[in-house]
Amino acid sequence: MTAPYDANNIFAKILRGEIPSHKLYEDAETYAFMDVMPQGKGHCLAITKAPFRNILDVDLANLNAVIATTQKLARGVKAAFDADGVTVIQFNEPAAGQTVFHLHFHVIPRFDGVALKPHTGQMEDQNVLAANADKIRQALATL
Ligand code: AMP
Repeated sequence: MTAPYDANNIFAKILRGEIPSHKLYEDAETYAFMDVMPQGKGHCLAITKAPFRNILDVDLANLNAVIATTQKLARGVKAAFDADGVTVIQFNEPAAGQTVFHLHFHVIPRFDGVALKPHTGQMEDQNVLAANADKIRQALATL
């Protein structure tokens, strides 16, 4: 038994515009933005607009939608940073490392020989996030 969805989680606040985010992409079902504590350059997140806690309670239509956005981001960050690869990660419940309880997929560009930084480690400079977001948005526009 998992806990119910909490509408006061930080991603719900981002979706309501109550706290800022570096927006990358949006469609009817999903939203994408920069992770503020990136595990690597260009780390970003794809989320559903509808309120799901994680992969355990999402319906298939919304899961399909957020996976499609995740693939778009993966292609976008690979092109934006000329990355060698892309890591996609998704955590469910605290035991698995989930810290924000609104369904999301992590998309992290990878470079040969460069290790991931710790999960929810250091806050990135806002100017760096803004510049990386710009690059990703430009790449997404050409896909
Ligand atoms: P998880 O542990 O999978 O729930 O990951 C939550 C992610 O959200 C972490 O990578 C955090 O760095 C990121 N995060 C937390 N707060 C914010 C925020 N306000 N804006 C963007 N990303 C955030």
